Parts: sequence; structure tokens; C-alpha cells
Amino acid sequence: MGLTGAYIAGAVAAPWLNAPQAVAQTIDTHAADLVVFNAKVYTMDNRALRAEAFAVKAGRFVAVGRTTDIKGLIAKETQTIDARQMTIVPGFTDCHNHAPGTTLLYEVLVGNPFEVEFVTIRSIVDKLRARAQETPAGRWVEGYFFDDTKVKDGRMLNVHDLDEVSKEHPVAVHHRGGHTSFYNSKALELAGVTKNAKDPAGGTFDRDEHGDLNGRVTDRARSVFANTGSRQTLTADETAQRSRDGLAHISKQFVRYGLTSVHHQGGDLFALQQVRARGDLLHRVSYEVNGRVLEAMITSGIATGFGDEWIRLGATSEHTVDGSFSERTMALSIPYPGVTPPYKGNITETQDELNAWVERGHRAGIQINCHANGDVAIDMVLTAFERAQKLFPRPDARPKITHCTLINDDLLRRIKATGTIPACFTSYAYYNTDKFRFYGEELMKRAMPFRSFLDAGVPACAGSDFSPGPFAPLMGIQGMVTRTGWNGETWGANQRVSVDEAIRINTLNGAYASREEAIKGSISAGKLADFVILADDPHTVDPSKIKDIRIVRTVVGGSTMYQA
Ligand SMILES: [Zn+2]
Repeated sequence: MGLTGAYIAGAVAAPWLNAPQAVAQTIDTHAADLVVFNAKVYTMDNRALRAEAFAVKAGRFVAVGRTTDIKGLIAKETQTIDARQMTIVPGFTDCHNHAPGTTLLYEVLVGNPFEVEFVTIRSIVDKLRARAQETPAGRWVEGYFFDDTKVKDGRMLNVHDLDEVSKEHPVAVHHRGGHTSFYNSKALELAGVTKNAKDPAGGTFDRDEHGDLNGRVTDRARSVFANTGSRQTLTADETAQRSRDGLAHISKQFVRYGLTSVHHQGGDLFALQQVRARGDLLHRVSYEVNGRVLEAMITSGIATGFGDEWIRLGATSEHTVDGSFSERTMALSIPYPGVTPPYKGNITETQDELNAWVERGHRAGIQINCHANGDVAIDMVLTAFERAQKLFPRPDARPKITHCTLINDDLLRRIKATGTIPACFTSYAYYNTDKFRFYGEELMKRAMPFRSFLDAGVPACAGSDFSPGPFAPLMGIQGMVTRTGWNGETWGANQRVSVDEAIRINTLNGAYASREEAIKGSISAGKLADFVILADDPHTVDPSKIKDIRIVRTVVGGSTMYQA
């Protein structure tokens, strides 16, 4: 078969034609398990950027090239897929995800976890009231995935709305960003929060224009609700069962959106292995360690990389150094625009504490990963990395900065010099543009700076930060390419990247971030056969429609894990 005219006219004119060795050296005489042909394959492999077909055997790509050549590997038992000129890219990787899945499966969801969707306050009240009716009085009724800028009513949820849910149950609605919650009168009463309550350090009880509690409570002020009311008690077995079922459930969601690898922030490691054993783990996991697991690694000499192609111990979980981008508490070197009294965000660690934490993990051969959004926090993290490398030089340590949102030229230079990998927000540029105005264009020009990173040769990767951000890679790619949000606003257009660059960030760079670029991240002979078939080509559709491209099939290790 021949290439279409449009295909040949592309910027990269079938470069694989100049690299026949990519096919020749890997073809063996045995029949393939799977052959996919008649496709527009974007390999993300610099030696041969495009192909028409590939063959898979024992879970790996064994040959990549032209349809006519690859068809020669079809035997009687070979499964074949005629892609009918659809687009194929490597499986997507999300390098920052809070992925237990139990909230999705067992809790009341008052917002859409996956897409931009406006809800009404009425719908929130109705969903919670239904839950209250099957819940004993005095026990908590809670809703999740609320987003204050995705409400049709155009006003803040308040205590009166939640009093309509119940006067007998404490009721809470949690913001998906993870830093604010909304409570009803019963909850406030049980916690002893009255009109005269003082704000504790690191949090607030918010008020309406009359000075009355409006039900919104921020950050650490929420701790007063921890031991009030009653909560459903689960046995150890029930908790374990929920952990397994939650992971199995979220794994299905990942492959539905084309993710084949996800970096998990901790979670139940035993449950993860059980889910895999029972055949319900559909994606590959880079397990980012914290707590007991991190401590056990350090004390027993287990370094990053232990595990296998399905579950591998990755970097540490994000070690938090400052506040949040979406809820406007990240640490800036200048005051937040338009905020009085002047406010520069929250630093949550001293430099000395951070230095000690980084050094200990670094010496133990563990890839360090810190959460830093603001320029002040990024500076602190780099200072700690530089110090640790000086004390204990370790080549190619690849420290990771989760979010790494706001940079400047000096930070960029140091990120490059230390070999640091930034895992920046991806879906925010589409999903959260309604929050960019709080920073303003001057700061947004330096925020989520994918263009700056690529130009400097820094292998930035994609980190959705689910639950705060949706994890759909195509939504992320659309935002990275357009820097335009659901509301039509464009911020920091100077940081746009090309479609090809955005795909690379979401695939090969993700593999690099977990030190697995030799085995995944591109469609290359010898690598794991993880790929996605897309109904349309993101290079040629209207950029504002990239997120709507249908995922036709998600394949991990040669096995179809999702099919539309
Ligand atoms: Zn996070």
C-alpha cells in the first residue's frame, strides 16, 4: 500500500524509509502474535519517526515498518488489526496521580472527575440527600469532586444549601483540589465551631457578608471535624477488599483514556499486587514510595527500580515543600497579584529539614521527588539536590520536581544542570484556566513552562495530579498545544508546544522519568508493546478538538485492555 498525499506532505517525510535497519535487524523467522497494519504510526523513536505497521511477540514490539514488510510476519495463529489509516501512538504515561480509586467507587461524586462539566447546587443537594436517607443519623454524609468554578448557579456552595441535605447528619462537600471543604450546621455544631470561632494557624472558617459562618473551611482548620460525628467502620478485610476493588476500578478508567503507565502516589502496595494477580491490573505502575515502604527501602537497601514491568518501585512520593496552584497557596517570591494584605503563599518545610530528607533518600539510591509549585519552593528543592549531589555524587540520579509550576531563567539553568525532571500539570491549561486570572498573564508566561523546558533540553513529563486535575492525556495535550481553556481564555501562549512534542512529553518523557526509557515510551522494536489507537490524528484535527478524539483501543504488552 502507498502513503496518502497528505501523509507524504507532512513535516517529517517518512523518515523511516532512510532507516531500514529498524525493521531488518529485529525480524525473526517466527510468526508474530499480533500484527497491526495500514496505520499512521507516530513512533516517538527518533531513528524512525513514522511507520505503517508493526508486529508484536511475547508482549513486545518485534518489528516496526511498512505494511508490506510487516505483513510477512503474519502466520495462521497471528491476530491481525487493519487500522484503516487510524493514528497510533505509544501508550500514554501520567507521572503524577493519586490513584486509590476507592473514592470513585464508593463515595458520592458531586462533580465530574474526568471532564469539564457544570453542575447545579440542586444536583449536589439531591445526591447527598439520597445518601443521607440510607445513612443512620449522626453519621457523616460526604460528597467529593466539587469544583467551585464549575457550578451553574454562579455562586459559592454554602451552609444553607447543605442544611437542606439534612439537619440530623453532619454533611461535608470536599473540593477536588484537596484544600477546602464545605459543611452544614450539624457538622459545625458537632465540632463546636461557632460564630465567634477564631481561625487557627494555617486555616480559616469563612464567613458571609453578615459575619456568619458560611460553611467553607480551608486547609488546617478542617482538622476540628476529624473526630466528630460517626463514620462507617470497616473491618480490616473490608478495607482491603475496597482497596483492591478501587484499584481495579481506576485501572479500567486509565485505559479508557489511553493511559498505559501511571505513577501512583503511594497507596496500598499489597492490594496492587493482589489486583495484578487476579488479572485486573490493566496498566503499568511506577509506585512512588512514602511512609513505611520508603523507610523499609532505606533500611533494607532496596533502591529505585526494584520490581518488574508491571509494578516497579519508582521515585519517592511528592515530598511537599509548598502550597497549591489551583487553590492559590503556592510559595511565590513576589506577593500574589491583587491580594491584600500582601500574601506570598505557604512554605511547609525549612531548608534544613528538606536538605536532610533529600540527602537520606539520595544516599540510599532512591530517586528523590519533591512537590514544589512556586519559584521559592523550586529554589529550595534545587538547593537540597545540589547539596546532596555534592556530598554524595551519583550520576544520572534524575531528581523529580512534581508540578515545578513557576520558573525563571536561573531556576531553568539549575534544573538543566542537575538533570532534574519536572512533572508539570497538563490538563490544567484546559480544565483550570478559570483559576489562571488569579496569577495574571505575567506569571502565567512562566507557569507550566513546557516550551521553556524543551528549548533548554529538559525532559519535562506530564503529571495530571488527579484528583485535582483530570487525567485524560488528550485533554492535557490539547491544553499544552493551545494554552486555551474550556472558557476560551488563553494564558501563557509563549509556552505552547507542538502536537508531536506534547505526545512525546506524555509518552517517552514519562518513561524517562521512571528510568524505563529503554523498555517503553516509544513504538520501537524490543520495547513493551504499549500503544493506543486513536480515531483521528491530533496533528490534523482542529486543535480545540484534540480532547474529543475517540480512544479506539488501548493495548498494554500486546493485550487489548480497552476497546471502544
Ligand atoms: Zn499530588
